[in-house]
Amino acid sequence: MTTSTPTSTGTVDQPILSVTGLSASYGFGRRAPLVLDDVSLTLGKGRTMGVVGESGSGKSTLAKVIIGTLGASAGTVEVGGVDVGRAKSAQRQALRRSVQMIPQDPYASLDPRMTIGRTLREALAPKGGRESTYRDRIVELLELVSLDASAVNRYPHEFSGGMRQRVAIARAIAVQPTLLIADEVTSALDASIQFEVLGLLDRLQKELGFGCVFITHNLGVAARMCDDITVMRYGKVVEQGPISLLAAPADPYTRLLVGSVPDPDGRFLTDPSAYDSVIAG
Ligand code: ADP
Ligand code: MG
Repeated sequence: MTTSTPTSTGTVDQPILSVTGLSASYGFGRRAPLVLDDVSLTLGKGRTMGVVGESGSGKSTLAKVIIGTLGASAGTVEVGGVDVGRAKSAQRQALRRSVQMIPQDPYASLDPRMTIGRTLREALAPKGGRESTYRDRIVELLELVSLDASAVNRYPHEFSGGMRQRVAIARAIAVQPTLLIADEVTSALDASIQFEVLGLLDRLQKELGFGCVFITHNLGVAARMCDDITVMRYGKVVEQGPISLLAAPADPYTRLLVGSVPDPDGRFLTDPSAYDSVIAG
């Protein structure tokens, strides 16, 4: 009997992302309210972890701490075994490539003065270089996200929201990240376009094998995309496990999100003590 799962290289698969006991706030000092409070999650290679919860529950803050733009007040984030908070400069440079983010707003995330070709060239070679040197790779990236090669010479304003989001995805995968953070990537899109973009992300993940932290307030979208799920409320994890838990949530807040708990006066969503009394049974 084996106790571990060897990969083809003979090493045991380690998680690509381990978040352990993570707390964070936007203020300074001990009185600053915790926006993340003791959050932990683990993501394996090529897997997708959904992070769900209402607006204000701390999902985007979690993304910021994972990508390193906001420091933690307690706990750790490890990407491929490297502690993001303690990374040395060479490690930090490597992390900037291996962790990529697709932002929510396809209208705000692309520089309006840059052609799509330039945007992708800057992703591939942030320190500069001729676009022609990277032309083949840029065309390949456009093909990966099902955009025509002619896009290289065009500007963001010439594209629809869905097409811009494809460009943002191409930019994120350009440097072959091991971890992709997708924060409400389809929230600004029409339903039919959402469907296309989700299908694209799914296909790319199968082809390229990155792990994904998929943040959404939409449980239907989470169910479509994720292997596992973390349900957050007021910065805390209230329930976590395989996506199938949505069929029979143990936690009343998750049941509320799924829609099986009536909350006629909305008390449950705004009053922590109402929630706590339900938890206490
Ligand atoms: P979500 O993405 O789940 O909607 P956020 O992580 O954006 O939640 O926000 C969590 C909490 O942190 C909210 O109460 C929000 O008001 C607060 N917050 C978010 N960004 C900032 C900021 N830059 N400065 C201060 N408070 C913030
Ligand atoms: Mg958010």
